[in-house]
Amino acid sequence: MALLFHSTNGQSPAVNLREALLLGLAPDRGLYLPERFPKLSFEEMAAFAKLPYHEIAFRVLSKFTEDIIPDADLSAMCRSAYNFPVPLEIVNVRVFLMRLDQGPTASFKDFAAQMMARMFGRFLKEDGRQVTILTATSGDTGAAVAHAFHKIPGVRVIVLFPAAEVSESQRKLMTVLKDNVRTVAVDGKFDDCQAMVKQAFADPALKHIPLSSANSINIGRLLPQSVYYFYAASRVAQAGEPVVFSIPSGNFGDMMGAVVAREMGLPVRKIIASVNDNDAFPKFLASGSYEKISPSRNSLSNAMNVGHPSNLARLVAVYGGQMDETGQLIKLPYLNAMRRDVFSTSISDARTVSGVREFWNNFQLLLEPHGAVAWQGFQDWTAVEPLGNSPAVLVETANPAKFPEEVEKVVGWAPDVPTNMLASLRLPEDFDRMDAEYSTFRDYLIERHKG
Ligand SMILES: *Cc1c(COP(=O)(O)O)cnc(C)c1O
Repeated sequence: MALLFHSTNGQSPAVNLREALLLGLAPDRGLYLPERFPKLSFEEMAAFAKLPYHEIAFRVLSKFTEDIIPDADLSAMCRSAYNFPVPLEIVNVRVFLMRLDQGPTASFKDFAAQMMARMFGRFLKEDGRQVTILTATSGDTGAAVAHAFHKIPGVRVIVLFPAAEVSESQRKLMTVLKDNVRTVAVDGKFDDCQAMVKQAFADPALKHIPLSSANSINIGRLLPQSVYYFYAASRVAQAGEPVVFSIPSGNFGDMMGAVVAREMGLPVRKIIASVNDNDAFPKFLASGSYEKISPSRNSLSNAMNVGHPSNLARLVAVYGGQMDETGQLIKLPYLNAMRRDVFSTSISDARTVSGVREFWNNFQLLLEPHGAVAWQGFQDWTAVEPLGNSPAVLVETANPAKFPEEVEKVVGWAPDVPTNMLASLRLPEDFDRMDAEYSTFRDYLIERHKG
């Protein structure tokens, strides 16, 4: 029997991974979570120490895909999705920096997008179906999704981005793709792009177009993000030895990957979820009352400018509570258990900048703003709980070359652009422009789906 996934809102029927992935959001607007977490044994995890990343990915993900994807196929998907290095650099004695920035768009979002696109493509082909994926992006998600779904048969991708709010390299990573990928520069803010996409999903005039989304609430993006925690532990810890992870967090998908790994049996001493000025979660963890931040606050770590982390409903559910999609707490989670496992802190822009500087001065390792938030959060935690002899992994979620101005201001020089990004930056751009009017977007979608 395939593993079933149920909705955090508890009003939709449980479905298998295939349905959960294709639906994205459950019909009751909740998020899918597995009914139980499959476990990895001590021996299975001990064997990871000698295995390459793609093989660990296969052994972890196959626990969820039983009866849905044959092992040989999943293995081939992992091999092609994860064909880039995952460096763990030593910071200090047993503290490591895991760079999740070597994928095609140089952010950690490649890990999820690459696997999700392969699963999507496979399921659609089995059904003989076609979909159009609509994505609104503030930068990194659009690029990762566009690259992952590029040339996947049966899928058309339309990415909306705020014309004036993405960096040049972020824009180029999306707009040089052609074929089944179309990017649209919207004369508006990220919120406008998101509102236009949401309205399209609800518009009866578009009922004839099969629309889908690839945003961070999809379970297909969450599960692959558990793999790099198993991988990191296998490289920096003895088998069975608990690890500390410090994760810069916005929508909490990355940190939920660590929670999933822990639920599957990975020994984790602490998950440090550091946020920028959007501090709804650390306040909730401390007080037990949740107030989302609206509108979200701008900060240097712009991929984490999230006022209401959408994956919070999943974290609350894992700890026995219930939160609906608006952020309303239906049932309080076991806060003490959550506090035992998770630490959270808010890092200001000033501390983000000084984090980049200190890290470079002290360790000669370069961080960008998101990684600096992870570093400062780690320092806040060690101030209340000594690290002792535990291994710790700081997660760097993007390549410093994606934030050249911010980094240059601090260290005095611009970071090298990695070769995987260089290739994209040299290709000619091609994108459409649009005002932030929904009716324009609707006409655009209808026009592109004629015939
Ligand atoms: C998306 C993103 C984050 C935040 O990840 P969540 O899963 O939303 O918490 C952090 N850093 C970078 C560079 C990102 O692109």
